[in-house]
Amino acid sequence: MSAIADLSAAELEALRNEVRGKYEAFRARGLKLDMTRGKPAPEQLDLSNGMLALPGNADHFTESGEDARNYGGLQGLAEARALFLPVLGAPPDRIVVGNNSSLALMHDCIVWALLKGVPGSPRPWAKEQEIAFICPSPGYDRHFAICEEYGVRMLPAPMTGQGPDMDVVEALASDPAVKGMWCVPKYSNPTGEIYSDQTVRRLASMRAGAPDFRLFWDNAYAVHHLTERRHEILNILEECERAGNPDRAFVFASTSKITLAGAGVAFFASSAANVRWLLARAGKRTIGPDKLNQLRHVRFLRDEAGLYRHMDAHRALIAPKFAAVAEALDRHLARTGVARWTRPDGGYFISVDAAQGTAKRVVELAKEAGLALTPAGATWPHGQDPHDSTLRLAPTFPSLEEVRAASEGIALCILLAAIDKQCALREAAG
Ligand code: PMP
Repeated sequence: MSAIADLSAAELEALRNEVRGKYEAFRARGLKLDMTRGKPAPEQLDLSNGMLALPGNADHFTESGEDARNYGGLQGLAEARALFLPVLGAPPDRIVVGNNSSLALMHDCIVWALLKGVPGSPRPWAKEQEIAFICPSPGYDRHFAICEEYGVRMLPAPMTGQGPDMDVVEALASDPAVKGMWCVPKYSNPTGEIYSDQTVRRLASMRAGAPDFRLFWDNAYAVHHLTERRHEILNILEECERAGNPDRAFVFASTSKITLAGAGVAFFASSAANVRWLLARAGKRTIGPDKLNQLRHVRFLRDEAGLYRHMDAHRALIAPKFAAVAEALDRHLARTGVARWTRPDGGYFISVDAAQGTAKRVVELAKEAGLALTPAGATWPHGQDPHDSTLRLAPTFPSLEEVRAASEGIALCILLAAIDKQCALREAAG
């Protein structure tokens, strides 16, 4: 197929009829498909079923002889910290293991920063006139929702394929009102990109206008590879230390998409001062985390090799789903010039740049055909995509058959919306 912009009026009309016919046929199938949220599929959760019987009736003592059933152990079990050390890139005394949600840790860090400030803050963030966060966009909607909830102004920075555009980020960060930045440095949600060494170094060393500027380094997809290549990124904590900004990064991760999305463990890693700060706040909120669950994770995953074996089993289940989406998009959209999409080496999403001004229409067309997509704009601050172009596809949860069917439908919706738009533009131009 040639680019639709190059087609004659008659060719475009013929193509429109053909694609509309295919779309109507798809709609007539009366399917009910959902590609909205990056949830693990039931078969992925089944991989961790063995964990549910652990640590077992008589196994509740930790390496240090602590009784995991009891109160205490605010920083988390030493063996759980050691297990995830390679993922977090900090020594065990600078890791905190929490309960099941890293998003909850990020939320609490922001709320505590607002109420109390962080190490180096002249005053609590809430006492400032106004504060802002740099938001690489498209990005993770729940990060943006936290900012929205607490009145943190969001400053979008474009993504480049190697992480955010650092010229833009450096210019924004020089403003003292800018207190932080969201980063998903590996297999970013939703673009799948991996921050380059240069991006990481510039983030660690850039001049920040606020003395208490923080990178919220959400390494949610640290070990979530979709190919045999296990991409590595630079260690942000080491880079910040080297650059003379030892307290700059708050690192987060969790086992939500390793073991059980609703019953995993979450991690925080940072400088000694930041860890002391977090524990001082956390100690008012709880007497200690669920250490039995931490022990269960240690018994089940065992060591780094066990973790990688487990992640390989996930990959075997979900890589074919990502391939199915790519296959349908390639087949329907290659060379049409109407869309670009990512081919991530890891993570949970495919991001599509549909023709400008058509993403909302694509989601509508999909809905009419029984296909639920993430609302257009969801991956932008305040849900406002300035180009109405980004679509986030989440292929992990539905079955492979469902992903195949849905991808077919999505490709048709993208194409049809682009053709309709092209026709409208030509009409308007006379
Ligand atoms: N961060 C990112 C970038 C995510 O994509 C997700 C899940 N969609 C989370 C955090 C949520 O993590 P958790 O389950 O640990 O709260």
